[in-house]
Amino acid sequence: MTPSRTMMFTTPEPLLVPSAQRTALTGCPWHDVKEMLREVGLRPTRQRMALGWILCAKGDRHVTAEMLYEEATKAKVPVSLATVYNALHQFTEVGLLRQVAVDGSKTYFDTNSTQHHHFFVEGENALLDIPDTDVIVGKTPIPPEGYEIARIDVVVRLRRKGR
Ligand SMILES: [Zn+2]
Repeated sequence: MTPSRTMMFTTPEPLLVPSAQRTALTGCPWHDVKEMLREVGLRPTRQRMALGWILCAKGDRHVTAEMLYEEATKAKVPVSLATVYNALHQFTEVGLLRQVAVDGSKTYFDTNSTQHHHFFVEGENALLDIPDTDVIVGKTPIPPEGYEIARIDVVVRLRRKGR
């Protein structure tokens, strides 16, 4: 029996990247926003599409409803602040966004929905990701009977040095 050498000559495979990965690479074209909404069971209405596109067109970031509303208005997307609030909460419920509550008055929505922690710069209202490699949580507390830890959010507050 001769070994089948022809197997060595494979043609290069066409670049078929799954849409989720492609989104991460290119920052989500319109078509991907539609697909993303469908995948999580949200009807791709015009307003959701527009907000989803604005949200993920700039890579991972943290926005408040007011910030997104302002961007949408600048981009000539006709939405009300209430619609923006609703959309952000719907996106969060289905896991597209993560809500980060910094204090009573400020809620940020994070386009990076994976587990990570944050720095918050007081006085500048800036929220920054803490790199994965910097582990913060040491010993996790034992939850009360009948409960389990869903996730741990750490917000480390920063201020400028020397004043
Ligand atoms: Zn973040």
